[in-house]
Amino acid sequence: MITGSIFDIKEFAVHDGPGIRTTVFLKGCPLRCAWCHNPEGWSSEPQVISSSAGDRTVGQAVRADDLAELLNGQAPILKANEGGVTFSGGEPLMQGRFVVEVINRLEGVHVLLDTSGYADGREFCLVVEHCDLVHFDLKVMDPVLHQRLTGQDNAPILGNLHRLADLGVPYVIRVPLVPGITDTDANLAAIAEALQDLPGLIRVDLLTYNRAAGGKYRGMGMTFKPTWDETETVNANTAHFTDAGLKVSVHGLRMTEGH
Ligand code: SF4
Repeated sequence: MITGSIFDIKEFAVHDGPGIRTTVFLKGCPLRCAWCHNPEGWSSEPQVISSSAGDRTVGQAVRADDLAELLNGQAPILKANEGGVTFSGGEPLMQGRFVVEVINRLEGVHVLLDTSGYADGREFCLVVEHCDLVHFDLKVMDPVLHQRLTGQDNAPILGNLHRLADLGVPYVIRVPLVPGITDTDANLAAIAEALQDLPGLIRVDLLTYNRAAGGKYRGMGMTFKPTWDETETVNANTAHFTDAGLKVSVHGLRMTEGH
Protein backbone atom coordinates (compact mmCIF):
# COMPACT_ATOMS: atom_id res chain seq x y z
CA MET A 1 0.00 0.00 0.00
CA ILE A 2 1.35 3.40 -1.00
CA THR A 3 2.17 5.78 1.84
CA GLY A 4 2.18 9.57 1.79
CA SER A 5 3.63 12.29 3.98
CA ILE A 6 1.23 14.92 5.33
CA PHE A 7 1.60 17.74 7.84
CA ASP A 8 -1.97 18.70 8.60
CA ILE A 9 -5.62 17.88 8.01
CA LYS A 10 -7.95 20.84 8.40
CA GLU A 11 -11.64 20.03 8.85
CA PHE A 12 -14.54 22.41 8.21
CA ALA A 13 -12.39 24.58 5.94
CA VAL A 14 -14.43 27.30 4.24
CA HIS A 15 -11.66 29.08 2.30
CA ASP A 16 -10.13 26.16 0.41
CA GLY A 17 -12.75 25.80 -2.32
CA PRO A 18 -16.54 25.50 -2.62
CA GLY A 19 -18.67 24.60 0.40
CA ILE A 20 -17.32 23.05 3.57
CA ARG A 21 -14.16 21.05 2.95
CA THR A 22 -11.52 18.91 4.53
CA THR A 23 -8.06 20.06 3.44
CA VAL A 24 -5.14 17.63 3.43
CA PHE A 25 -1.72 19.31 3.52
CA LEU A 26 0.94 17.22 1.84
CA LYS A 27 4.55 17.60 2.87
CA GLY A 28 7.28 18.52 0.39
CA CYS A 29 7.56 21.41 -2.06
CA PRO A 30 10.07 22.08 -4.87
CA LEU A 31 9.66 25.86 -4.53
CA ARG A 32 11.00 28.20 -1.88
CA CYS A 33 8.78 31.25 -2.25
CA ALA A 34 10.19 34.19 -0.31
CA TRP A 35 6.71 34.90 1.14
CA CYS A 36 5.78 31.28 1.96
CA HIS A 37 3.71 30.98 5.14
CA ASN A 38 3.88 27.19 5.29
CA PRO A 39 7.63 26.45 5.55
CA GLU A 40 6.83 23.21 7.35
CA GLY A 41 5.55 22.07 3.95
CA TRP A 42 8.95 22.37 2.25
CA SER A 43 10.67 19.19 3.40
CA SER A 44 9.14 15.76 2.88
CA GLU A 45 10.61 14.68 6.22
CA PRO A 46 9.05 15.18 9.67
CA GLN A 47 10.30 18.33 11.43
CA VAL A 48 10.18 19.77 14.94
CA ILE A 49 8.57 23.18 15.49
CA SER A 50 9.22 24.96 18.79
CA SER A 51 6.88 27.42 20.41
CA SER A 52 6.03 28.71 23.90
CA ALA A 53 3.73 25.68 24.21
CA GLY A 54 6.68 23.33 23.65
CA ASP A 55 8.02 21.28 20.76
CA ARG A 56 5.83 19.46 18.29
CA THR A 57 6.69 17.27 15.34
CA VAL A 58 5.03 18.10 12.03
CA GLY A 59 4.79 15.46 9.36
CA GLN A 60 3.50 11.93 9.52
CA ALA A 61 3.34 8.97 7.19
CA VAL A 62 -0.17 7.88 6.28
CA ARG A 63 -1.42 5.02 4.13
CA ALA A 64 -3.68 5.88 1.21
CA ASP A 65 -6.47 3.57 2.39
CA ASP A 66 -6.35 4.96 5.93
CA LEU A 67 -6.58 8.54 4.70
CA ALA A 68 -9.39 7.65 2.29
CA GLU A 69 -11.29 5.91 5.08
CA LEU A 70 -11.00 9.01 7.26
CA LEU A 71 -12.17 11.27 4.41
CA ASN A 72 -15.03 8.93 3.48
CA GLY A 73 -16.19 9.11 7.09
CA GLN A 74 -16.64 12.85 6.59
CA ALA A 75 -18.20 12.50 3.14
CA PRO A 76 -21.87 12.86 4.23
CA ILE A 77 -21.27 16.24 5.87
CA LEU A 78 -19.02 17.43 3.03
CA LYS A 79 -21.60 16.48 0.41
CA ALA A 80 -24.47 17.98 2.43
CA ASN A 81 -22.60 21.30 2.45
CA GLU A 82 -21.65 21.28 -1.25
CA GLY A 83 -18.04 20.84 -0.27
CA GLY A 84 -15.44 18.11 -0.60
CA VAL A 85 -11.77 17.35 -0.14
CA THR A 86 -8.91 19.73 -1.01
CA PHE A 87 -5.35 18.49 -1.51
CA SER A 88 -2.88 21.26 -0.69
CA GLY A 89 0.59 21.58 0.71
CA GLY A 90 3.48 22.02 0.26
CA GLU A 91 3.03 20.80 -3.26
CA PRO A 92 0.65 17.83 -3.55
CA LEU A 93 2.01 16.95 -7.00
CA MET A 94 5.27 15.87 -5.35
CA GLN A 95 3.20 12.91 -4.14
CA GLY A 96 0.97 12.63 -7.16
CA ARG A 97 0.63 8.87 -7.16
CA PHE A 98 -0.34 8.86 -3.50
CA VAL A 99 -2.97 11.56 -4.13
CA VAL A 100 -4.43 9.50 -7.00
CA GLU A 101 -4.52 6.39 -4.81
CA VAL A 102 -6.50 8.32 -2.18
CA ILE A 103 -8.87 9.88 -4.75
CA ASN A 104 -9.55 6.46 -6.27
CA ARG A 105 -10.81 5.31 -2.88
CA LEU A 106 -13.09 8.29 -2.23
CA GLU A 107 -16.82 7.70 -2.41
CA GLY A 108 -18.22 10.37 -4.70
CA VAL A 109 -16.57 13.33 -2.95
CA HIS A 110 -15.75 16.54 -4.84
CA VAL A 111 -11.95 16.82 -5.16
CA LEU A 112 -9.97 20.03 -5.49
CA LEU A 113 -6.23 20.19 -6.19
CA ASP A 114 -4.47 23.29 -4.82
CA THR A 115 -1.15 23.46 -6.67
CA SER A 116 1.78 25.70 -7.49
CA GLY A 117 1.76 24.05 -10.91
CA TYR A 118 5.42 23.10 -10.63
CA ALA A 119 5.58 19.43 -11.58
CA ASP A 120 6.45 17.00 -14.32
CA GLY A 121 3.83 17.37 -17.08
CA ARG A 122 2.79 13.70 -17.06
CA GLU A 123 2.41 13.63 -13.28
CA PHE A 124 0.42 16.86 -13.46
CA CYS A 125 -2.04 15.43 -16.01
CA LEU A 126 -2.35 12.15 -14.11
CA VAL A 127 -3.54 13.92 -10.95
CA VAL A 128 -5.63 16.66 -12.60
CA GLU A 129 -7.62 14.07 -14.57
CA HIS A 130 -8.83 12.71 -11.22
CA CYS A 131 -9.96 16.12 -9.90
CA ASP A 132 -13.15 18.16 -10.19
CA LEU A 133 -11.55 21.57 -9.73
CA VAL A 134 -8.01 22.99 -9.63
CA HIS A 135 -6.65 26.02 -7.81
CA PHE A 136 -3.53 26.90 -9.80
CA ASP A 137 -1.11 29.60 -8.67
CA LEU A 138 0.58 32.14 -10.88
CA LYS A 139 3.08 34.22 -9.00
CA VAL A 140 5.58 35.99 -11.23
CA MET A 141 5.67 35.99 -15.02
CA ASP A 142 9.22 37.31 -15.45
CA PRO A 143 11.37 34.14 -15.50
CA VAL A 144 14.45 35.73 -13.91
CA LEU A 145 12.41 37.25 -11.08
CA HIS A 146 10.50 33.99 -10.63
CA GLN A 147 13.76 32.07 -10.26
CA ARG A 148 15.07 34.59 -7.75
CA LEU A 149 11.88 34.68 -5.65
CA THR A 150 10.90 31.01 -5.68
CA GLY A 151 14.15 29.20 -6.49
CA GLN A 152 12.68 27.64 -9.64
CA ASP A 153 12.10 28.39 -13.31
CA ASN A 154 8.48 29.20 -14.20
CA ALA A 155 8.60 27.43 -17.58
CA PRO A 156 7.23 24.10 -16.19
CA ILE A 157 4.40 26.02 -14.46
CA LEU A 158 3.40 27.80 -17.66
CA GLY A 159 3.60 24.50 -19.55
CA ASN A 160 1.24 22.92 -17.04
CA LEU A 161 -1.11 25.91 -17.24
CA HIS A 162 -1.62 25.09 -20.92
CA ARG A 163 -2.01 21.38 -20.15
CA LEU A 164 -4.66 22.33 -17.60
CA ALA A 165 -6.55 24.41 -20.15
CA ASP A 166 -6.48 21.44 -22.55
CA LEU A 167 -7.66 18.87 -19.99
CA GLY A 168 -11.15 20.32 -19.57
CA VAL A 169 -11.04 20.36 -15.74
CA PRO A 170 -12.26 23.77 -14.51
CA TYR A 171 -9.72 25.91 -12.66
CA VAL A 172 -9.26 29.10 -10.67
CA ILE A 173 -6.00 31.02 -10.99
CA ARG A 174 -4.70 32.37 -7.70
CA VAL A 175 -2.21 35.22 -7.50
CA PRO A 176 -0.55 35.97 -4.13
CA LEU A 177 -0.09 39.75 -3.95
CA VAL A 178 3.22 40.61 -2.30
CA PRO A 179 3.73 44.38 -2.07
CA GLY A 180 6.11 45.70 -4.72
CA ILE A 181 7.02 42.12 -5.75
CA THR A 182 4.11 40.27 -7.39
CA ASP A 183 1.53 43.09 -7.32
CA THR A 184 3.21 45.36 -9.85
CA ASP A 185 1.04 46.46 -12.74
CA ALA A 186 3.58 44.93 -15.12
CA ASN A 187 3.26 41.50 -13.46
CA LEU A 188 -0.53 41.62 -13.18
CA ALA A 189 -0.83 42.71 -16.82
CA ALA A 190 1.47 39.86 -17.89
CA ILE A 191 -0.63 37.33 -15.94
CA ALA A 192 -3.85 38.66 -17.50
CA GLU A 193 -2.30 38.43 -20.95
CA ALA A 194 -1.21 34.83 -20.34
CA LEU A 195 -4.75 33.88 -19.28
CA GLN A 196 -6.64 35.63 -22.03
CA ASP A 197 -8.54 33.17 -24.20
CA LEU A 198 -7.53 30.09 -22.15
CA PRO A 199 -10.50 27.68 -21.98
CA GLY A 200 -11.78 26.37 -18.64
CA LEU A 201 -10.82 29.36 -16.48
CA ILE A 202 -13.54 30.12 -13.91
CA ARG A 203 -11.97 33.27 -12.44
CA VAL A 204 -8.81 34.85 -11.08
CA ASP A 205 -8.44 35.23 -7.30
CA LEU A 206 -6.10 37.97 -6.10
CA LEU A 207 -4.92 37.02 -2.60
CA THR A 208 -3.84 39.99 -0.50
CA TYR A 209 -0.58 39.69 1.42
CA ASN A 210 -0.58 37.74 4.66
CA ARG A 211 1.33 39.81 7.23
CA ALA A 212 1.65 36.75 9.46
CA ALA A 213 3.61 35.00 6.71
CA GLY A 214 6.83 34.79 8.71
CA GLY A 215 5.24 33.50 11.91
CA LYS A 216 6.40 29.89 11.74
CA TYR A 217 10.01 30.42 10.71
CA ARG A 218 11.53 31.14 14.10
CA GLY A 219 10.09 27.98 15.63
CA MET A 220 11.78 26.01 12.87
CA GLY A 221 15.17 27.66 13.43
CA MET A 222 14.79 29.65 10.20
CA THR A 223 14.75 33.37 9.50
CA PHE A 224 12.02 35.08 7.50
CA LYS A 225 13.65 37.80 5.38
CA PRO A 226 11.11 39.86 3.45
CA THR A 227 12.76 42.27 1.01
CA TRP A 228 9.49 44.20 0.76
CA ASP A 229 7.65 46.53 3.10
CA GLU A 230 5.12 44.29 4.85
CA THR A 231 3.05 47.29 5.99
CA GLU A 232 2.48 48.54 2.45
CA THR A 233 -1.01 48.13 0.97
CA VAL A 234 -0.96 45.79 -2.00
CA ASN A 235 -1.97 46.85 -5.48
CA ALA A 236 -5.04 44.67 -6.09
CA ASN A 237 -5.66 46.18 -9.50
CA THR A 238 -8.45 44.11 -10.98
CA ALA A 239 -8.64 46.22 -14.14
CA HIS A 240 -5.91 44.19 -15.86
CA PHE A 241 -8.18 41.17 -15.67
CA THR A 242 -11.56 42.77 -16.35
CA ASP A 243 -10.06 44.57 -19.35
CA ALA A 244 -9.00 41.16 -20.65
CA GLY A 245 -12.58 39.88 -20.23
CA LEU A 246 -11.71 37.73 -17.18
CA LYS A 247 -13.67 37.35 -13.95
CA VAL A 248 -11.61 38.44 -10.94
CA SER A 249 -12.10 38.75 -7.18
CA VAL A 250 -9.93 39.90 -4.27
CA HIS A 251 -9.49 37.82 -1.10
CA GLY A 252 -7.58 38.02 2.15
CA LEU A 253 -4.82 35.40 2.39
CA ARG A 254 -5.04 33.22 5.46
CA MET A 255 -2.40 31.20 7.22
CA THR A 256 -3.35 27.93 5.62
CA GLU A 257 -4.54 29.22 2.30
CA GLY A 258 -2.74 29.74 -0.97
CA HIS A 259 0.86 29.33 -1.99
S1 SF4 B 1 4.19 29.28 -1.07
FE1 SF4 B 1 3.45 27.27 -1.75
S2 SF4 B 1 4.65 26.83 -3.59
FE2 SF4 B 1 5.70 28.47 -2.48
S3 SF4 B 1 7.21 27.43 -1.18
FE3 SF4 B 1 5.36 27.72 0.04
S4 SF4 B 1 4.20 25.82 -0.20
FE4 SF4 B 1 5.72 25.89 -1.87
